[in-house]
Amino acid sequence: MLRHTLRRTLKSCTSSVWIQSRKSTIPSQSLLLETIPKENVDCVVIGAGVVGIAVARDLALKGRDVLVIESAPTFGSGTSSRNSEVIHAGIYYPPNSLKAIFCLRGRKLLYQYCANHGVPHKQIGKLIVATGSSEIQKLIVLLSQGRENGVEGLRMMEGFEAMRMEPELKCLKALLSPYSGIVDTHALMLSLVGEAENHGATFSYNTTVVGGHLEGDSIQIHISQSKNIEKCIGGCPPQPELILVPNLVVNSAGLSSPSLAKSFKGLDSRVIPPSYYAQGCYFTLSNNKTPPFEHLIYPIPEDGGLGVHVTLDLDGHVKFGPDVEWIGELDSISSFLNKFDYSVSSDRVQKFYPEIRRYYPNLKEGSLEPGYAGIRPKLSGPGQPPVDFIIQGEDINGVRGLINLFGIESPGLTSSLAIAEHIGLKFIG
Ligand SMILES: Cc1cc2nc3c(=O)[nH]c(=O)nc-3n(C[C@H](O)[C@H](O)[C@H](O)COP(=O)(O)OP(=O)(O)OC[C@H]3O[C@@H](n4cnc5c(N)ncnc54)[C@H](O)[C@@H]3O)c2cc1C
Repeated sequence: MLRHTLRRTLKSCTSSVWIQSRKSTIPSQSLLLETIPKENVDCVVIGAGVVGIAVARDLALKGRDVLVIESAPTFGSGTSSRNSEVIHAGIYYPPNSLKAIFCLRGRKLLYQYCANHGVPHKQIGKLIVATGSSEIQKLIVLLSQGRENGVEGLRMMEGFEAMRMEPELKCLKALLSPYSGIVDTHALMLSLVGEAENHGATFSYNTTVVGGHLEGDSIQIHISQSKNIEKCIGGCPPQPELILVPNLVVNSAGLSSPSLAKSFKGLDSRVIPPSYYAQGCYFTLSNNKTPPFEHLIYPIPEDGGLGVHVTLDLDGHVKFGPDVEWIGELDSISSFLNKFDYSVSSDRVQKFYPEIRRYYPNLKEGSLEPGYAGIRPKLSGPGQPPVDFIIQGEDINGVRGLINLFGIESPGLTSSLAIAEHIGLKFIG
């Protein structure tokens, strides 16, 4: 019902809004807002990535009326379809951080969900490897951090033992993480969307949140059809076509969350963290009839990422990546419309060969082909210490019913169901 109302309202209001704004010479923002149709809604989730979808499902299961606004023509076309598809065990994150807590809880929920809903996944295990003696200490630190986080089954192995498990591997020592795995991310999102819709959630695609404003201590959300804001890139700010008056708003716009929060007029800018973007490219292994490895193979983490690792998908295809390249910010409309540059330059492959050969010496020259790229929504820049996930409610931002999710980088996929559970428990009850 809401879906139809929304479509009808968006269609019919487009022309009247533009006519109104052309008639008056310089309409003030508040005058202009008065001319725009308004709809009352219960919960608005901005962004249909894996986190937004998981939140929408959780709210719908709790009996709330949920409207998901997604700028793209379908769900999951942002970072959620541009990652390693690894179910992380929870080793890399500082004890008691949200990343550690949500990764562990999310991993358990995810394995359970996949098993119960027929989502393809496999607990294939991971080896984190030290290839030089200077890396052994780092592996020991990871082991103790993982144990402190409560990760089960971690075991330090001598190189010969790891190399017996994986004959193509070369390393001095390895940390075995038996609970790491892989998941078909698209199938996961499809299943979550289906469940959310079955419980009454509405997904409005090709619809963009272009801003918002505060009325008293609550927020109203400005939306437009995505096709109508394309022309605003690099030009005038877009005029909203419809204003939503919600009880609850979850800003889970991924890479755009901070820019979107900046466009909420009246929101205290001090609650919006600085944002940084780190692109990561993947290269795939061509002509491999049998994958060289059965486990995920990860080097020691590097600044900004987990290192160029080996990931297998459920069809046995092998990819290596992602590397780390810091990139600049986009203007807000381009970022809402996901106009980031995701091309993979074949030049970057030259950096991949030596990095991979440190643990896979038999990698043949010419065997890597450009794959895809993803962009990490980071809250710390190059050389700065990593920053935790931010899940920010009214207690911090002062706006009734507004929840901002900032910096949901890895392990965001693994954590998605736990983040949704947390929002449901902390903010809905
Ligand atoms: C290279 C890479 C590898 C990774 N590997 C892993 C891994 O192996 N395991 C793991 O657990 N995690 C991994 N992650 C992290 C994981 O992919 C993300 O944490 C997760 O996908 C984030 O989901 P999201 O829903 O928050 O964001 P997104 O998937 O980016 O979704 C945000 C959505 O919001 C929409 N949107 C944006 N602005 C607007 C607007 N104004 N109006 C309407 N819609 C809007 C976008 O179109 C998009 O669909 C990786 C990330 C990267 C970059």
